[in-house]
Amino acid sequence: VWNSCLQFIEDNITPHLFDTWFKPIKPVKLENSSLSIQVPSKFFFEWLEEHYAELLKASLRKELGRNAKLVYNIRMENKRGNNPAYTENLPSTKRKKIDYQDIDSKKGKRPELKNPFVIPGIKNLKIDSQLNSNYNFDNFLEGESNRLARSAGRAIANKPGGTSFNPLLVFGGSGLGKTHLAHAIGVDIKEKYPEKTVLYISSEKFTQQFIDSVTKRNNRNDFIHFYQLVDVLIVDDIQLLSGKAGTQEAFFHIFNHLHQNGKQVVLTSDKAPVDMQDIEQRLLSRFKWGLSAELQTPDYETRINIIKSKLFRDGVEMPDEIVEYLAENVKHNIRELEGAIISLIAHSSFSKKEIDLELTERVVSNFVRKTKKELSIGQIQKVVSEYFDMDVDTLQSKTRKRHIVQARQIAMYFSKKMTKSSLANIGKEIGKRDHATVLHACKTVDNLKSTDKSFNKYVEELQLKLKT
Ligand code: ADP
Ligand code: MG
Repeated sequence: VWNSCLQFIEDNITPHLFDTWFKPIKPVKLENSSLSIQVPSKFFFEWLEEHYAELLKASLRKELGRNAKLVYNIRMENKRGNNPAYTENLPSTKRKKIDYQDIDSKKGKRPELKNPFVIPGIKNLKIDSQLNSNYNFDNFLEGESNRLARSAGRAIANKPGGTSFNPLLVFGGSGLGKTHLAHAIGVDIKEKYPEKTVLYISSEKFTQQFIDSVTKRNNRNDFIHFYQLVDVLIVDDIQLLSGKAGTQEAFFHIFNHLHQNGKQVVLTSDKAPVDMQDIEQRLLSRFKWGLSAELQTPDYETRINIIKSKLFRDGVEMPDEIVEYLAENVKHNIRELEGAIISLIAHSSFSKKEIDLELTERVVSNFVRKTKKELSIGQIQKVVSEYFDMDVDTLQSKTRKRHIVQARQIAMYFSKKMTKSSLANIGKEIGKRDHATVLHACKTVDNLKSTDKSFNKYVEELQLKLKT
Protein backbone atom coordinates (compact mmCIF):
# COMPACT_ATOMS: atom_id res chain seq x y z
CA VAL A 1 0.00 0.00 0.00
CA TRP A 2 2.71 2.40 0.99
CA ASN A 3 4.53 1.85 -2.28
CA SER A 4 1.45 2.76 -4.27
CA CYS A 5 1.05 5.86 -2.12
CA LEU A 6 4.66 6.77 -2.79
CA GLN A 7 4.11 6.31 -6.48
CA PHE A 8 1.25 8.74 -6.37
CA ILE A 9 3.22 11.23 -4.30
CA GLU A 10 6.25 10.96 -6.51
CA ASP A 11 4.16 11.89 -9.51
CA ASN A 12 3.02 15.01 -7.76
CA ILE A 13 6.16 16.66 -6.42
CA THR A 14 9.71 17.33 -7.57
CA PRO A 15 12.27 14.51 -7.28
CA HIS A 16 14.41 16.47 -4.86
CA LEU A 17 11.54 17.05 -2.46
CA PHE A 18 10.42 13.50 -2.85
CA ASP A 19 13.87 12.22 -1.91
CA THR A 20 14.08 14.55 1.04
CA TRP A 21 10.67 14.08 2.56
CA PHE A 22 9.25 10.78 1.42
CA LYS A 23 12.09 8.38 0.90
CA PRO A 24 13.06 8.43 4.59
CA ILE A 25 9.59 7.36 5.68
CA LYS A 26 9.20 3.78 6.73
CA PRO A 27 5.83 2.02 6.70
CA VAL A 28 5.29 0.17 9.96
CA LYS A 29 1.94 -1.51 9.92
CA LEU A 30 -1.42 -1.57 8.30
CA GLU A 31 -4.52 -2.29 10.34
CA ASN A 32 -7.96 -2.00 8.81
CA SER A 33 -7.59 1.20 6.95
CA SER A 34 -5.06 2.76 9.24
CA LEU A 35 -1.49 2.95 8.09
CA SER A 36 1.36 3.63 10.52
CA ILE A 37 4.51 5.18 9.23
CA GLN A 38 7.74 5.99 10.92
CA VAL A 39 9.43 9.33 10.41
CA PRO A 40 12.94 10.27 11.49
CA SER A 41 12.18 13.20 13.77
CA LYS A 42 9.61 15.48 15.24
CA PHE A 43 10.65 18.25 12.94
CA PHE A 44 10.17 15.90 10.02
CA PHE A 45 6.69 15.10 11.20
CA GLU A 46 5.77 18.74 11.61
CA TRP A 47 7.11 19.54 8.20
CA LEU A 48 5.11 16.76 6.60
CA GLU A 49 1.96 17.83 8.35
CA GLU A 50 2.43 21.42 7.41
CA HIS A 51 3.34 20.94 3.80
CA TYR A 52 2.20 17.58 2.63
CA ALA A 53 -0.86 16.72 4.69
CA GLU A 54 -3.16 17.13 1.70
CA LEU A 55 -0.98 15.11 -0.58
CA LEU A 56 -0.63 12.33 1.96
CA LYS A 57 -4.33 12.28 2.57
CA ALA A 58 -5.11 12.13 -1.10
CA SER A 59 -2.69 9.29 -1.72
CA LEU A 60 -4.00 7.32 1.23
CA ARG A 61 -7.64 7.75 0.32
CA LYS A 62 -6.87 6.57 -3.13
CA GLU A 63 -5.45 3.35 -1.74
CA LEU A 64 -7.52 2.73 1.36
CA GLY A 65 -10.76 4.50 0.77
CA ARG A 66 -12.50 7.26 2.63
CA ASN A 67 -11.77 5.98 6.10
CA ALA A 68 -8.07 5.94 5.59
CA LYS A 69 -6.06 7.01 8.60
CA LEU A 70 -2.44 7.84 8.98
CA VAL A 71 -0.50 7.28 12.18
CA TYR A 72 2.92 8.73 12.69
CA ASN A 73 5.62 7.08 14.75
CA ILE A 74 8.43 9.41 15.48
CA ARG A 75 11.77 7.76 15.68
CA MET A 76 13.63 8.65 18.85
CA GLU A 77 16.38 10.97 17.93
CA ASN A 78 19.73 9.43 18.14
CA LYS A 79 22.58 11.83 18.24
CA ARG A 80 24.87 9.82 16.11
CA GLY A 81 22.13 9.58 13.56
CA ASN A 82 22.71 5.98 12.68
CA ASN A 83 20.00 3.68 13.67
CA PRO A 84 20.41 0.59 11.53
CA ALA A 85 16.83 -0.48 12.07
CA TYR A 86 15.74 2.54 10.22
CA THR A 87 17.49 1.59 7.01
CA GLU A 88 15.52 -1.60 6.47
CA ASN A 89 12.95 -0.73 3.90
CA LEU A 90 14.69 2.12 2.22
CA PRO A 91 15.37 2.10 -1.48
CA SER A 92 18.83 0.95 -2.31
CA THR A 93 20.38 4.34 -2.96
CA LYS A 94 19.55 5.61 0.49
CA ARG A 95 20.40 2.36 2.11
CA LYS A 96 23.78 2.41 0.56
CA LYS A 97 24.40 5.82 1.93
CA ILE A 98 23.51 4.87 5.45
CA ASP A 99 25.24 1.51 5.34
CA TYR A 100 28.40 3.24 4.43
CA GLN A 101 28.16 5.21 7.58
CA ASP A 102 27.52 2.09 9.65
CA ILE A 103 30.39 0.13 8.24
CA ASP A 104 32.59 3.09 8.69
CA SER A 105 31.91 3.34 12.36
CA LYS A 106 31.99 -0.39 13.00
CA LYS A 107 35.34 -0.83 11.46
CA GLY A 108 36.51 1.96 13.65
CA LYS A 109 37.78 3.97 10.75
CA ARG A 110 37.10 7.11 12.66
CA PRO A 111 40.10 8.70 14.22
CA GLU A 112 41.02 7.64 17.68
CA LEU A 113 39.92 10.08 20.25
CA LYS A 114 42.53 10.22 22.88
CA ASN A 115 41.03 12.83 25.04
CA PRO A 116 41.90 15.89 23.06
CA PHE A 117 40.54 18.12 25.76
CA VAL A 118 43.55 17.99 27.95
CA ILE A 119 45.26 20.96 26.45
CA PRO A 120 46.04 22.98 29.55
CA GLY A 121 44.49 26.36 29.82
CA ILE A 122 41.80 26.14 27.20
CA LYS A 123 39.22 24.16 29.03
CA ASN A 124 37.01 27.11 29.45
CA LEU A 125 37.31 28.18 25.93
CA LYS A 126 36.44 31.79 25.25
CA ILE A 127 36.58 32.43 21.60
CA ASP A 128 35.23 35.13 19.40
CA SER A 129 32.53 33.42 17.45
CA GLN A 130 33.05 35.74 14.44
CA LEU A 131 29.33 36.08 14.03
CA ASN A 132 27.73 39.08 12.42
CA SER A 133 24.53 39.85 14.28
CA ASN A 134 23.26 41.92 11.37
CA TYR A 135 22.60 38.62 9.71
CA ASN A 136 19.78 37.11 11.71
CA PHE A 137 16.57 35.19 11.20
CA ASP A 138 14.40 38.26 11.62
CA ASN A 139 15.80 39.88 8.53
CA PHE A 140 16.19 36.67 6.57
CA LEU A 141 12.88 36.76 4.78
CA GLU A 142 11.15 33.52 4.16
CA GLY A 143 9.97 32.42 0.73
CA GLU A 144 9.37 29.26 -1.22
CA SER A 145 12.98 29.38 -2.38
CA ASN A 146 14.52 29.15 1.07
CA ARG A 147 11.82 27.58 3.21
CA LEU A 148 13.48 24.23 3.74
CA ALA A 149 16.91 25.65 4.50
CA ARG A 150 15.51 28.33 6.75
CA SER A 151 13.28 25.96 8.73
CA ALA A 152 16.05 23.44 9.14
CA GLY A 153 18.26 26.27 10.34
CA ARG A 154 15.69 27.26 12.90
CA ALA A 155 15.29 23.69 14.06
CA ILE A 156 19.03 23.46 14.55
CA ALA A 157 19.13 26.71 16.46
CA ASN A 158 16.54 25.29 18.84
CA LYS A 159 18.45 22.09 19.40
CA PRO A 160 22.01 22.31 18.17
CA GLY A 161 23.38 18.83 17.61
CA GLY A 162 20.06 17.34 18.61
CA THR A 163 18.32 17.05 15.27
CA SER A 164 18.96 14.70 12.41
CA PHE A 165 20.28 17.65 10.41
CA ASN A 166 23.86 17.13 11.27
CA PRO A 167 25.56 18.37 9.31
CA LEU A 168 23.24 20.86 7.69
CA LEU A 169 24.59 21.67 4.26
CA VAL A 170 23.11 24.80 2.72
CA PHE A 171 23.89 25.12 -0.94
CA GLY A 172 22.97 27.49 -3.73
CA GLY A 173 24.28 30.08 -6.15
CA SER A 174 26.06 33.27 -5.29
CA GLY A 175 24.10 35.99 -3.53
CA LEU A 176 21.22 33.80 -2.46
CA GLY A 177 21.76 34.06 1.27
CA LYS A 178 24.07 31.23 2.32
CA THR A 179 26.33 33.41 4.41
CA HIS A 180 23.39 35.27 5.88
CA LEU A 181 21.65 32.06 6.92
CA ALA A 182 24.86 30.59 8.30
CA HIS A 183 25.32 33.59 10.58
CA ALA A 184 21.65 33.64 11.52
CA ILE A 185 21.87 30.08 12.80
CA GLY A 186 24.92 30.92 14.88
CA VAL A 187 23.47 34.17 16.20
CA ASP A 188 20.27 32.43 17.21
CA ILE A 189 22.12 29.65 19.00
CA LYS A 190 24.21 32.19 20.86
CA GLU A 191 21.03 33.90 22.02
CA LYS A 192 19.37 30.72 23.16
CA TYR A 193 22.46 29.01 24.53
CA PRO A 194 24.94 31.67 25.59
CA GLU A 195 27.18 29.06 27.18
CA LYS A 196 27.76 27.22 23.94
CA THR A 197 30.84 27.96 21.90
CA VAL A 198 29.81 28.80 18.39
CA LEU A 199 32.35 29.44 15.69
CA TYR A 200 31.76 30.83 12.24
CA ILE A 201 34.64 30.56 9.82
CA SER A 202 35.05 31.03 6.09
CA SER A 203 36.79 28.21 4.31
CA GLU A 204 39.44 30.61 3.12
CA LYS A 205 40.33 31.63 6.63
CA PHE A 206 40.16 28.06 7.81
CA THR A 207 42.59 27.02 5.09
CA GLN A 208 44.91 29.89 5.87
CA GLN A 209 44.96 29.05 9.57
CA PHE A 210 45.65 25.46 8.76
CA ILE A 211 48.55 26.33 6.49
CA ASP A 212 49.96 28.70 9.09
CA SER A 213 49.63 26.07 11.77
CA VAL A 214 51.69 23.69 9.71
CA THR A 215 54.27 26.00 8.21
CA LYS A 216 54.78 28.72 10.80
CA ARG A 217 54.08 27.06 14.06
CA ASN A 218 54.40 23.41 13.41
CA ASN A 219 51.33 22.66 15.48
CA ARG A 220 48.82 21.05 13.19
CA ASN A 221 47.41 19.07 16.09
CA ASP A 222 46.68 22.16 18.14
CA PHE A 223 44.83 23.53 15.18
CA ILE A 224 42.68 20.43 14.99
CA HIS A 225 42.13 20.29 18.73
CA PHE A 226 41.08 23.88 18.85
CA TYR A 227 38.28 23.26 16.41
CA GLN A 228 37.27 20.10 18.17
CA LEU A 229 36.45 22.13 21.25
CA VAL A 230 33.54 24.05 19.82
CA ASP A 231 29.89 23.13 20.20
CA VAL A 232 28.76 24.53 16.90
CA LEU A 233 31.02 24.84 13.89
CA ILE A 234 29.86 26.81 10.89
CA VAL A 235 32.05 26.65 7.82
CA ASP A 236 31.13 28.91 4.93
CA ASP A 237 31.87 28.06 1.29
CA ILE A 238 33.18 24.60 1.95
CA GLN A 239 33.61 24.04 -1.81
CA LEU A 240 36.75 26.15 -1.49
CA LEU A 241 38.48 23.23 0.21
CA SER A 242 38.49 21.67 -3.21
CA GLY A 243 41.92 20.36 -4.14
CA LYS A 244 43.36 21.15 -0.70
CA ALA A 245 44.18 17.71 0.59
CA GLY A 246 45.88 18.73 3.82
CA THR A 247 43.10 21.05 4.90
CA GLN A 248 40.49 18.46 3.98
CA GLU A 249 42.25 15.89 6.10
CA ALA A 250 42.29 18.21 9.09
CA PHE A 251 38.66 19.07 8.55
CA PHE A 252 37.86 15.37 8.36
CA HIS A 253 39.23 14.79 11.85
CA ILE A 254 37.47 17.83 13.21
CA PHE A 255 34.20 16.83 11.64
CA ASN A 256 34.33 13.28 12.95
CA HIS A 257 35.08 14.39 16.43
CA LEU A 258 32.32 16.97 16.53
CA HIS A 259 29.77 14.70 14.94
CA GLN A 260 30.52 11.81 17.24
CA ASN A 261 30.11 14.04 20.23
CA GLY A 262 26.77 15.37 19.12
CA LYS A 263 28.12 18.80 18.23
CA GLN A 264 26.47 20.68 15.43
CA VAL A 265 28.13 21.28 12.09
CA VAL A 266 26.72 23.71 9.52
CA LEU A 267 28.25 23.99 6.08
CA THR A 268 27.53 26.12 3.06
CA SER A 269 28.56 25.54 -0.49
CA ASP A 270 27.86 27.04 -3.89
CA LYS A 271 27.33 23.55 -5.27
CA ALA A 272 25.43 20.43 -4.33
CA PRO A 273 27.66 17.70 -2.93
CA VAL A 274 27.41 15.70 -6.17
CA ASP A 275 28.87 18.60 -8.10
CA MET A 276 31.79 19.31 -5.81
CA GLN A 277 35.06 18.48 -7.40
CA ASP A 278 38.34 17.52 -5.83
CA ILE A 279 36.83 16.94 -2.42
CA GLU A 280 37.61 13.58 -0.88
CA GLN A 281 34.89 10.98 -1.10
CA ARG A 282 34.84 10.35 2.62
CA LEU A 283 34.08 14.03 3.20
CA LEU A 284 31.45 14.20 0.51
CA SER A 285 29.65 11.23 1.99
CA ARG A 286 29.70 12.88 5.39
CA PHE A 287 28.28 16.07 3.96
CA LYS A 288 25.26 14.00 3.02
CA TRP A 289 24.70 12.44 6.43
CA GLY A 290 22.39 15.16 7.61
CA LEU A 291 20.30 17.39 5.40
CA SER A 292 21.30 19.16 2.20
CA ALA A 293 19.00 22.09 1.63
CA GLU A 294 19.12 24.27 -1.42
CA LEU A 295 18.66 28.02 -1.55
CA GLN A 296 16.99 28.67 -4.86
CA THR A 297 16.51 31.92 -6.69
CA PRO A 298 13.73 33.79 -4.93
CA ASP A 299 10.36 34.04 -6.61
CA TYR A 300 8.82 37.36 -7.54
CA GLU A 301 6.84 37.75 -4.36
CA THR A 302 9.85 37.10 -2.18
CA ARG A 303 11.89 39.58 -4.18
CA ILE A 304 9.22 42.21 -3.60
CA ASN A 305 9.25 41.44 0.11
CA ILE A 306 13.01 41.65 0.31
CA ILE A 307 13.08 45.00 -1.47
CA LYS A 308 10.35 46.42 0.71
CA SER A 309 12.01 45.30 3.90
CA LYS A 310 15.36 46.80 2.89
CA LEU A 311 13.66 50.07 2.05
CA PHE A 312 11.75 50.04 5.27
CA ARG A 313 14.89 49.39 7.24
CA ASP A 314 16.65 52.30 5.56
CA GLY A 315 13.63 54.55 5.91
CA VAL A 316 13.35 55.10 2.19
CA GLU A 317 10.17 55.26 0.21
CA MET A 318 9.85 54.18 -3.35
CA PRO A 319 6.85 54.04 -5.66
CA ASP A 320 5.41 50.58 -6.21
CA GLU A 321 6.13 50.86 -9.87
CA ILE A 322 9.86 51.08 -9.14
CA VAL A 323 9.78 48.27 -6.63
CA GLU A 324 8.07 46.08 -9.21
CA TYR A 325 10.51 47.05 -11.90
CA LEU A 326 13.41 46.07 -9.66
CA ALA A 327 11.83 42.77 -8.71
CA GLU A 328 11.17 41.95 -12.34
CA ASN A 329 14.61 42.81 -13.59
CA VAL A 330 17.02 41.74 -10.88
CA LYS A 331 16.09 38.14 -10.45
CA HIS A 332 18.98 35.88 -9.86
CA ASN A 333 20.95 37.32 -7.03
CA ILE A 334 19.80 39.04 -3.86
CA ARG A 335 23.15 40.75 -3.45
CA GLU A 336 22.66 42.40 -6.83
CA LEU A 337 19.16 43.36 -5.87
CA GLU A 338 20.46 45.11 -2.77
CA GLY A 339 23.22 46.72 -4.79
CA ALA A 340 20.71 48.10 -7.24
CA ILE A 341 18.63 49.59 -4.43
CA ILE A 342 21.61 51.23 -2.76
CA SER A 343 22.88 52.60 -6.00
CA LEU A 344 19.47 53.90 -6.91
CA ILE A 345 19.13 55.72 -3.63
CA ALA A 346 22.60 57.18 -4.01
CA HIS A 347 21.92 58.38 -7.55
CA SER A 348 18.72 60.06 -6.57
CA SER A 349 20.18 61.82 -3.58
CA PHE A 350 23.19 63.08 -5.52
CA SER A 351 21.17 64.35 -8.39
CA LYS A 352 18.41 65.50 -6.06
CA LYS A 353 15.97 63.82 -8.37
CA GLU A 354 13.00 61.69 -7.54
CA ILE A 355 13.55 58.05 -8.22
CA ASP A 356 11.71 57.52 -11.47
CA LEU A 357 11.49 54.71 -13.93
CA GLU A 358 14.04 56.20 -16.26
CA LEU A 359 16.70 56.47 -13.58
CA THR A 360 15.85 52.98 -12.38
CA GLU A 361 16.25 51.51 -15.83
CA ARG A 362 19.62 53.15 -16.19
CA VAL A 363 20.89 52.00 -12.81
CA VAL A 364 19.60 48.49 -13.24
CA SER A 365 21.17 48.13 -16.66
CA ASN A 366 24.53 48.86 -15.06
CA PHE A 367 23.82 46.37 -12.41
CA VAL A 368 22.57 43.20 -13.87
CA ARG A 369 25.36 41.22 -15.35
CA LYS A 370 24.61 40.29 -18.88
CA THR A 371 24.32 36.57 -18.44
CA LYS A 372 27.37 35.23 -20.13
CA LYS A 373 27.49 31.58 -20.89
CA GLU A 374 30.43 29.69 -19.55
CA LEU A 375 33.05 28.85 -22.12
CA SER A 376 33.51 25.20 -22.90
CA ILE A 377 36.87 23.49 -23.12
CA GLY A 378 36.07 22.82 -26.76
CA GLN A 379 35.60 26.52 -27.47
CA ILE A 380 38.84 27.36 -25.73
CA GLN A 381 40.75 24.81 -27.78
CA LYS A 382 39.24 26.24 -30.93
CA VAL A 383 40.19 29.83 -30.14
CA VAL A 384 43.70 28.88 -29.03
CA SER A 385 44.43 26.73 -32.06
CA GLU A 386 43.08 29.36 -34.43
CA TYR A 387 45.26 31.93 -32.77
CA PHE A 388 48.36 29.79 -33.25
CA ASP A 389 47.23 28.84 -36.71
CA MET A 390 46.89 25.11 -36.24
CA ASP A 391 43.89 22.83 -36.11
CA VAL A 392 42.45 21.31 -32.98
CA ASP A 393 43.74 17.83 -33.87
CA THR A 394 47.27 19.15 -33.97
CA LEU A 395 46.78 20.84 -30.63
CA GLN A 396 45.67 17.54 -29.13
CA SER A 397 48.29 15.39 -30.87
CA LYS A 398 51.08 13.60 -29.09
CA THR A 399 53.78 15.69 -30.69
CA ARG A 400 56.45 17.32 -28.57
CA LYS A 401 57.14 20.16 -30.97
CA ARG A 402 57.68 23.11 -28.75
CA HIS A 403 55.15 25.54 -30.18
CA ILE A 404 52.45 22.89 -30.23
CA VAL A 405 53.17 21.85 -26.67
CA GLN A 406 52.94 25.48 -25.62
CA ALA A 407 49.67 26.04 -27.40
CA ARG A 408 48.29 22.95 -25.71
CA GLN A 409 49.48 24.12 -22.32
CA ILE A 410 47.87 27.47 -22.88
CA ALA A 411 44.59 25.80 -23.76
CA MET A 412 44.80 23.81 -20.53
CA TYR A 413 45.65 26.90 -18.58
CA PHE A 414 42.61 28.78 -19.84
CA SER A 415 40.37 25.77 -19.37
CA LYS A 416 41.36 25.70 -15.72
CA LYS A 417 40.99 29.43 -15.37
CA MET A 418 37.77 30.04 -17.27
CA THR A 419 35.69 26.91 -16.77
CA LYS A 420 34.62 25.02 -13.73
CA SER A 421 36.07 21.77 -15.06
CA SER A 422 38.35 19.62 -12.97
CA LEU A 423 41.97 19.06 -13.94
CA ALA A 424 41.14 15.47 -14.79
CA ASN A 425 38.35 16.47 -17.06
CA ILE A 426 40.40 19.11 -18.83
CA GLY A 427 43.12 16.53 -19.42
CA LYS A 428 40.62 14.10 -20.81
CA GLU A 429 39.20 16.60 -23.26
CA ILE A 430 42.52 17.96 -24.44
CA GLY A 431 44.02 14.86 -25.98
CA LYS A 432 43.44 12.33 -23.19
CA ARG A 433 46.06 13.57 -20.73
CA ASP A 434 45.97 13.05 -16.98
CA HIS A 435 45.37 15.66 -14.34
CA ALA A 436 49.05 15.94 -13.43
CA THR A 437 49.85 17.02 -16.98
CA VAL A 438 47.22 19.73 -16.76
CA LEU A 439 48.51 20.91 -13.42
CA HIS A 440 52.02 21.04 -14.83
CA ALA A 441 50.74 22.99 -17.84
CA CYS A 442 49.08 25.58 -15.60
CA LYS A 443 52.26 26.06 -13.60
CA THR A 444 54.41 26.29 -16.72
CA VAL A 445 52.18 28.93 -18.24
CA ASP A 446 52.20 30.91 -15.02
CA ASN A 447 55.98 30.76 -14.92
CA LEU A 448 56.47 31.67 -18.53
CA LYS A 449 54.07 34.55 -18.23
CA SER A 450 56.25 36.12 -15.59
CA THR A 451 59.57 35.42 -17.27
CA ASP A 452 58.90 35.71 -20.99
CA LYS A 453 57.43 38.95 -22.24
CA SER A 454 56.37 37.82 -25.68
CA PHE A 455 54.78 34.71 -24.25
CA ASN A 456 52.90 36.86 -21.79
CA LYS A 457 51.65 38.97 -24.67
CA TYR A 458 50.20 35.93 -26.45
CA VAL A 459 48.44 34.84 -23.35
CA GLU A 460 46.96 38.24 -22.70
CA GLU A 461 45.78 38.66 -26.25
CA LEU A 462 44.19 35.26 -26.08
CA GLN A 463 42.54 36.10 -22.84
CA LEU A 464 40.92 39.14 -24.42
CA LYS A 465 39.72 37.04 -27.32
CA LEU A 466 38.27 34.45 -25.01
CA LYS A 467 36.49 37.00 -22.91
CA THR A 468 34.61 38.57 -25.79
P1 ADP B 1 25.75 34.06 -0.48
O1 ADP B 1 26.57 33.79 0.73
O2 ADP B 1 24.82 32.95 -0.84
O3 ADP B 1 26.55 34.50 -1.67
P2 ADP B 1 24.74 36.23 1.13
O4 ADP B 1 24.33 35.47 2.33
O5 ADP B 1 26.00 37.00 1.20
O6 ADP B 1 24.78 35.27 -0.15
O7 ADP B 1 23.52 37.16 0.72
C1 ADP B 1 23.65 38.26 -0.17
C2 ADP B 1 22.82 39.40 0.34
O8 ADP B 1 21.45 39.09 0.19
C3 ADP B 1 23.06 39.68 1.80
O9 ADP B 1 23.13 41.05 2.02
C4 ADP B 1 21.84 39.10 2.50
O10 ADP B 1 21.51 39.82 3.66
C5 ADP B 1 20.78 39.24 1.44
N1 ADP B 1 19.78 38.16 1.54
C6 ADP B 1 19.91 36.91 1.08
N2 ADP B 1 18.81 36.18 1.34
C7 ADP B 1 17.96 37.00 1.98
C8 ADP B 1 16.64 36.85 2.52
N3 ADP B 1 16.00 35.68 2.44
N4 ADP B 1 16.07 37.92 3.11
C9 ADP B 1 16.73 39.08 3.20
N5 ADP B 1 17.96 39.30 2.71
C10 ADP B 1 18.59 38.28 2.11
MG1 MG C 1 28.63 33.76 1.01
